[in-house]
Amino acid sequence: MDHDDLNHWSKWAADWARDYHATLGERPVRAPLVPGAVARQLPEMAPEMPEDMAAILADFERIVPGAMTHWQHPRFFAYFPANAAPASMLAEQLVNAMACNALIWQTSPAATEMEQVMVQWLRAALGLPEGFVGTIHDSATNATLSAVLTMREVALGHQGNITGLAGAGRLRIYASAQTHSSVDKAIRVAGIGQDNLVKVATEASLSMDPAVLDRLIRADLAAGFVPAGVILCTGGTSVGACDRIADCIAVAKAHGLPVHVDAAWAGSAMICDEFRHLWAGVEDADSIVFNPHKWLGAQFDCSVQFLRDPGPQVRTLGLRPSYLETAGREEIVNFNEWTVPLGRRFRALKLWFVLRAHGLEGLRGMIRNHVAWAQEACQALQGLAGLQIVTGPALSLFTFALKDDAATAALLERINNDGRIYLTQTQHKGRFVIRVQVGSLACTRDDVMMIPQVVAAMMMMPDCAAGPQG
Ligand code: PLP
Repeated sequence: MDHDDLNHWSKWAADWARDYHATLGERPVRAPLVPGAVARQLPEMAPEMPEDMAAILADFERIVPGAMTHWQHPRFFAYFPANAAPASMLAEQLVNAMACNALIWQTSPAATEMEQVMVQWLRAALGLPEGFVGTIHDSATNATLSAVLTMREVALGHQGNITGLAGAGRLRIYASAQTHSSVDKAIRVAGIGQDNLVKVATEASLSMDPAVLDRLIRADLAAGFVPAGVILCTGGTSVGACDRIADCIAVAKAHGLPVHVDAAWAGSAMICDEFRHLWAGVEDADSIVFNPHKWLGAQFDCSVQFLRDPGPQVRTLGLRPSYLETAGREEIVNFNEWTVPLGRRFRALKLWFVLRAHGLEGLRGMIRNHVAWAQEACQALQGLAGLQIVTGPALSLFTFALKDDAATAALLERINNDGRIYLTQTQHKGRFVIRVQVGSLACTRDDVMMIPQVVAAMMMMPDCAAGPQG
């Protein structure tokens, strides 16, 4: 296949994409399959001889779209969204065509400089004060890992990277049980050890209790541990919990500890003034992560980490062997020194396209609609006999359940086998609950109001709905 062929088939792909998106609403949201159904259709070995692109694309159409869970479906209400605005898809096509590796400034100056400017556009859009700088990671998991590695190195006087962790003080990191599992993963990967991630009790509001945080830090100090940092959340994954950022940061700062705030999902909502109370005090954090690839329409992957001072993170993660030096240009930024991987994609272009194509006002309108429609759907569900709203809307996320876990799980399975909407589950206070989050770029109020319709219909059905097909 050469570039003329690429041109030809790109037009085919553009037509396919248009039809795919135009008919998404007619497809079941979740792939109606059992494991192994796709692998069985693929040959065991790679072909020895070139194959015709027409045949490859025919197989694509036959095997792939019907075996996908459609994240851009207007009735995708599961997990959190991974929205892809058409402008973002277009930017990614252009990035694909250039196929760069933006590891240092001189390998892709436009990627580096646009990343710096987009981080500033977003900083201002989220209401964060001047002075924060930042970078774009692939995922919040990697941003949080970078923050935890930095906490570790600062606590160890930057010796962990040099001499290893054996013999170092036993570090402690503090977070509430409402933080995402990426925090647990970061603590493990950083060599701090799961036992040293202290899960701080939450209050009725589901915020970390700052008084308990203070007690735990003091007890650890008395016992000879080395507190290294605090991780807070705005919009926890399970039910949207928000820590009282200002009060928790005050405790952390009283003990001289750095703070990382995980707002992977809810951060996007902070482009709206009226939601910023949810993270009041965030301007005193040292590191903040949010994912434009969740709710802002810059497609996966695109996770922004703001840093009050990049110095400690760059000292932790940056290496500059001679083959990565840019001679005579000490003032430039090489973003690989801010993140774990060396190689990096040109992620800023899709932000540039999306922010310009929608404008902040357009994006605010979308998020405000989602929050309002989630509240409406929640109210409609509240009226169904036998159904209980377990946690009310945190922005556009709420949970509900039936009288016992088995009945709730059976209802969820029926809803998802039906295919018109897609919901997922979580555990809340020991209970199996169904999560609803409204965040699909393509959804309308009618799509959202289909949630109570489908739930009501599925509650009327006997427990023997058809299962997935092989
Ligand atoms: N933090 C929160 C609050 C999340 O909800 C998620 C994922 O949904 C993550 C972190 C991890 O995000 P990523 O997939 O970008 O690593």
